[in-house]
Amino acid sequence: MLLTIQTGQDNPILRQKTNKVKRITPEIKELILNMIETMDAKQGIGLAAPQVGQSLQIITIRPDPQQPAIVLINPEIIKKSFKKDIVEEGCLSLPSIQVEVKRPVSITVKAININNEQIKIKTDGLLSRVIQHEIDHLNGILIVDKK
Ligand code: ZN
Repeated sequence: MLLTIQTGQDNPILRQKTNKVKRITPEIKELILNMIETMDAKQGIGLAAPQVGQSLQIITIRPDPQQPAIVLINPEIIKKSFKKDIVEEGCLSLPSIQVEVKRPVSITVKAININNEQIKIKTDGLLSRVIQHEIDHLNGILIVDKK
């Protein structure tokens, strides 16, 4: 099911801190599948639950359409590189806005996946950037704050 994307930099749901997911219920799994479907339909490479009106710590990511989507629940960045770079980013919640954002090049993130397994991802490049962008959403931070 396609979900409605919340838009606007003053939209309250996009500005609040999200809640941790306590249990991966069938409803949570359904939300995740709908998020992936919505992300793909909008040709986004990442989506955070507040963007579909759910104040929960869930992100879905698919930087490469040939690869399966990555689901991170309660993600936490545990390490980031000193080295940063600047890349122009867009956001499904801020259509027609592009912002140059400075971020650490590589990160290590821990989270749980849809099967309630602990996972740890060390990555750089586009995946690192998308994960950081989506985790910002979980803290009510938008790219316009990064100007
Ligand atoms: Zn975004």
